[in-house]
Amino acid sequence: MKVLVINAGSSSLKYQLYNMMDESVLASGRVERIGMDSSIVTHESANKPEVRDVREILDHVTAVKRVIDILVHPDFGVITSMSEIDAVGHRVVHGGEAFKHSVIVTQEVKAEIKRLFDLAPLHNPAHMMGINAVETNMPNVPQVVVFDTAFHQTMPETSYLYPIPKVLYRRHKIRRYGFHGTSHAYVSGEAARFLGKPIESLKMVSCHIGNGASCAAIVGGKTLDTSMGMTPLEGLMMGTRSGDIDPAIVPFVINKEELTLSEVNSMLNKHSGMQAISGLSSDMREIDEAMNAGDANAKLAFDMFVYRLRKYIGAYAAAMNGIDVLLFTAGIGENSASVRRAVCEGITFLGLELDDALNTERKKTVREISKPDSRVKVLVVPTNEELLIARDTYKLTNV
Ligand code: ADP
Repeated sequence: MKVLVINAGSSSLKYQLYNMMDESVLASGRVERIGMDSSIVTHESANKPEVRDVREILDHVTAVKRVIDILVHPDFGVITSMSEIDAVGHRVVHGGEAFKHSVIVTQEVKAEIKRLFDLAPLHNPAHMMGINAVETNMPNVPQVVVFDTAFHQTMPETSYLYPIPKVLYRRHKIRRYGFHGTSHAYVSGEAARFLGKPIESLKMVSCHIGNGASCAAIVGGKTLDTSMGMTPLEGLMMGTRSGDIDPAIVPFVINKEELTLSEVNSMLNKHSGMQAISGLSSDMREIDEAMNAGDANAKLAFDMFVYRLRKYIGAYAAAMNGIDVLLFTAGIGENSASVRRAVCEGITFLGLELDDALNTERKKTVREISKPDSRVKVLVVPTNEELLIARDTYKLTNV
């Protein structure tokens, strides 16, 4: 059985074709700059030449058609006909309260995703274009949607409600949803498997730190709390997002700087975080390099990033009344030994000791980086959201 995984953005579409018999990736690629006359298509697979072409792709329907054309192409393709694709799985950012699990796409599911446009105006409309584009090109192929929010739907009211008038929750569903759920679900499952322990017995803090960053307190395989909120702006300091700030700063800045609401929104999402503090870059590699070369602002950005993450880990250990596993994933979590070291150095009181040699090893597999007698296990777990989407799609359609 072959599953095509699609992550549709407003001007881009990423894809992977999986063979579910061995969970191998047969091909992957992306279409960028959809809507322009110079869209870029890149595609790669194990044994065939790579594709990179520039052509006019004005909408998602044409983008999906182009992907299929490449997948079945005699020179670059990996399948002989479209009928080899048994199902398509989509990443959808916001599932609101309606979706606690992945589901097969139906008219009702599409209508519900549409109702959620308000909560994720930058993402859900683009995902819908992807779903409709597949429907147009492959009308008989079942589709599944996998939500970034679904894994966190186990949060209790005490975690997901904000202490603001309750009518706002009733009327507008203003509450914490959390994001990166597919990643937190995948890595927490992999961590339990790696440790050979039932996930039901473990208290974990999962740190997904990339450009976007969030951590989750996971008890027995279920989210108790997570740092992103109604939108992905809350929580940790990120590449260009502020994370937690005093909400009163917003009206204050609007007043003092004569900015509009949307300008402040853009400031907090696109011009804050490590970018703003370092004055240099949102990219941890560049910040690390500059810090090592003596740049004081880069060091401040690094230190703030680490400090804020440590505070969350401590808070979640308290919220769970203990911690068995601390895990790191995503671009920074998987690759930055210096961030992991700095975070762990400051929270040894939890009963956690990093092994420096293991921490600096470069491996792409799940690995333990704490000392053998560390009570809290510290793991690096490479995330793979696409694989989890492919697995859910396979499970739901292969009945
Ligand atoms: P996204 O949220 O866009 O998916 P990623 O998970 O790819 O982001 O993470 C991107 C971040 O990972 C960037 O800040 C980048 O600098 C960081 N990163 C990637 N490789 C390294 C590395 N070797 N050392 C430090 N940081 C790294």
